[in-house]
Amino acid sequence: VPELPDVEDYRSIFSEHAARKKVLDVEADATIVRSASVRSLDAALSGQRFHEPRRHGKWLICPTSGPSLLLHFGMTGGLVWSGEDPDRHRHDRLFLSFNDGELRYRNMRKLGGAWLAHDDDETARVLGPIGPDAYEVSAEQFLRILDKRRGGIKAALMDQHLIAGLGNLTTDEALWHARIAPKRAIASIDKRERRALYRKIRKVLRDSIEVGRVPSKRSWLTSERGERDARCPRCKSALDRATVAGRTTYWCPECQPDG
Ligand SMILES: [Zn+2]
Repeated sequence: VPELPDVEDYRSIFSEHAARKKVLDVEADATIVRSASVRSLDAALSGQRFHEPRRHGKWLICPTSGPSLLLHFGMTGGLVWSGEDPDRHRHDRLFLSFNDGELRYRNMRKLGGAWLAHDDDETARVLGPIGPDAYEVSAEQFLRILDKRRGGIKAALMDQHLIAGLGNLTTDEALWHARIAPKRAIASIDKRERRALYRKIRKVLRDSIEVGRVPSKRSWLTSERGERDARCPRCKSALDRATVAGRTTYWCPECQPDG
């Protein structure tokens, strides 16, 4: 599932292959174009040049001198540059053609999609109520956001309305690094722990952005996901697994006590 580091990777693919180049043609599967017809999407973007794309949470915002293309990758989406490969994949659903190849939006399940926005207000409407980007949010902002929220910490971190970009893997990984159990009530987490959590979120995002995804390093919790005998990389205890905030969650009962 694409999380902030994956979308950051797609941003750099878009920047490298699509920004500053003239769009020759747009083709799309009508079922993933959300706010326009395929024909009007093509008419709006063909002949335009994309500016530098930017990311907000899991959104990729691709402006031109006219409208912006907004991409969300849902559960299975990604961007692929064609290079010399003429063969499209059967899950490719949107194509931006340039004189040196085409950028392909691939998405097996049709969650997410492509939107056309004509100005900043429309972009804001499509993105909806969304918190600050998880990699841009300041420590002070982060602490203020937690102060206003009740309930479990994992649900809060995953709530895109509060902070945008964290998903299941980045959240579990940051909580494990910070030694905070995912089910803990925010109220039970003291200031020192909250600051540590902020630093660990940054570290997890930074290291993940470097490789374009949450890495399966042996020293990271993520490497144990899905293992039959999943063990804590730090203390070797058996990891706990349960559904928290609607998602399969891993944590170490020794390193991340209930508090
Ligand atoms: Zn442990």
